[in-house]
Amino acid sequence: MAPIIQVEHLTYIYGEGMPDATRALDDISFSIERGEFLGVIGPTGCGKSTLITHFNGLNRPTSGRLLIDGEDMWADPKQIRKYRFKVGLVFQYPEYQLFEETVRKDIAFGPRNMGLPEEEIAKRVVEAARFCGLDEEMLDRSPFELSGGQKRRVAIAGVIAMRPEVLVLDEPAAGLDPEGREMILGQVRRYHKETGTTVVLVSHSMEDIAKYADRVLVLQAGKLAMLDTTANIFARAQELVEYGLSVPQVTKIFLRLRQMGVDVPVDVYTVKYARDVILKALAERGGAAHA
Ligand code: ADP
Repeated sequence: MAPIIQVEHLTYIYGEGMPDATRALDDISFSIERGEFLGVIGPTGCGKSTLITHFNGLNRPTSGRLLIDGEDMWADPKQIRKYRFKVGLVFQYPEYQLFEETVRKDIAFGPRNMGLPEEEIAKRVVEAARFCGLDEEMLDRSPFELSGGQKRRVAIAGVIAMRPEVLVLDEPAAGLDPEGREMILGQVRRYHKETGTTVVLVSHSMEDIAKYADRVLVLQAGKLAMLDTTANIFARAQELVEYGLSVPQVTKIFLRLRQMGVDVPVDVYTVKYARDVILKALAERGGAAHA
């Protein structure tokens, strides 16, 4: 089976032919496998948003191709709408796009736009709300009465209710407190696990990427700098730092230990793994009893 998304030599130029033209993406090629959880990282302005808005046809490549399910999405531009439903995009601060009188209507907006029967829409609204941790009693309230984190979950539920094959989220936890972040990202992970939907998570937080992604794509000045498993990416922590990305705190500690001549691995990116590595090292020295 073809990968769910194939990007072939994608180049995108804003304002092509104008004096201030910007080459936001430069000859990018890679594939996203069905069912994976891909993290996309890179410094501000490296092209993350430009890349993901290509996945559902909001941007059209200046050159190169995008294949969804093995089909060239721009082969017939009149058909582009169908990709808007296959690839669900959650923009940054999506709560600003809520506008209906009730949460229920807001979540139903996407599925209704797809022309689904009312019964199916009702079912999907309840299901999407559940995935996003929204109680049924909230459905008949105005979205504007909710907290910031709840509003954001309503907006995400609206995309999930379309049951896209790929769920793409641009900084879904931006601006939330640690509890709100944990809640949203935990729900995205649960949704991924329970439904097997392909997830693409754009984040500048290495901590979040480390915790949730199977593979990581690093963009740097419009170019694909790295694409590998999360462990292999964090094993190159020094390069990430050189790209101006901040690696997780725990990785910084292990990099420093390594620089100090201590023989530790450098692909340590979660606290749990750090603990296991330290306990193992102590055990090898016969010090485990004191750990
Ligand atoms: P990121 O999401 O990683 O912050 P973007 O995709 O927003 O990066 O931006 C990539 C590059 O394209 C940047 O140099 C940015 O200034 C430029 N850019 C983004 N949107 C536009 C636009 N609408 N018009 C012109 N240039 C843009």
